[in-house]
Amino acid sequence: MISFGPVPSRRLGKSLGINNIVYPKTCSYGCIYCQAGNTLKKTCIRESFYEPENIYDSVCKHLDTLRDNDYPDFLTFVSNGEPTLDVNLGRSINLLKKTGIPVAVLTNSSLLHIEPVREDLYLANWVSIKMDAGDIITWYMINRPARGLDFETILTGIKLFRNGFKGILCTESMIVRGINDFTENFYALAEIVKYVDPSTAYLSVPTRPPAERYVKPPEPEKLNEAWHIFDNLNINTELLTGYEGADTGFTGNVYEDILNITAVHPLREEAMLKLLENDNADLNVVRALINQHLIKPVLYEGKKYFIRDYH
Ligand code: SF4
Repeated sequence: MISFGPVPSRRLGKSLGINNIVYPKTCSYGCIYCQAGNTLKKTCIRESFYEPENIYDSVCKHLDTLRDNDYPDFLTFVSNGEPTLDVNLGRSINLLKKTGIPVAVLTNSSLLHIEPVREDLYLANWVSIKMDAGDIITWYMINRPARGLDFETILTGIKLFRNGFKGILCTESMIVRGINDFTENFYALAEIVKYVDPSTAYLSVPTRPPAERYVKPPEPEKLNEAWHIFDNLNINTELLTGYEGADTGFTGNVYEDILNITAVHPLREEAMLKLLENDNADLNVVRALINQHLIKPVLYEGKKYFIRDYH
């Protein structure tokens, strides 16, 4: 199936997914946490999959079946592999833009050093690039790249793309327990992400069955640390822990306010007390949420924060 959904997404609203990679899963990476399973064809050579006209026709037919309030905010390339391996990606994006719906691409960023790949992605309205590792050893451990890829070359490609892309650029970093959840990696990653200057840097944790069974989410304390290291560099950083939420401030519903805000970023103790006061609530609410394993207190540099408990 070429198109699926729409599915709700905090990042993109209603998103109609597009899979431009034909079976088998074809990717330049074999990420240990990949929810699409192991990479059956690992390559960094671009090739032709579907004809762009087939993708366009399939999406138009899909759109025709949707009710008005299901109409997507984005057409999003989330492939059975790496979408930029498709040599026709740029032509497909151009055709899809005729629908009037913005186009988003989630890429692992490993091919951005290739000029035609960058040219293709420049056509998209929104691009998310994967950045999990701040050093080459961690990169090998978590992303398991195809032969022929080089870490420094990819960083150069990311910088070239940053300088040429005019749309909305985000980064996504998956944090895996015992693999890339250490302080040095957070600092190295944050430095690279700072250069990219994304509109939002997302820090995510594995929430779906991974390619490798040993993959586990990091301890909330580690995710909290990563968030602070990014935030200290003034990077607009949000958490993706499987919970939808939005930092909507005080709405009057104290439970929803706490769950929404902590789904996006850690909530400082002082901010929590202020929120309770504004909503005429007390610490019993916080205790109840902790007892239900919905939030968890964590420490960072001697200060207490609350974060969504995703275990
Ligand atoms: S880059 Fe994406 S599709 Fe490829 S292995 Fe990693 S998570 Fe899976």
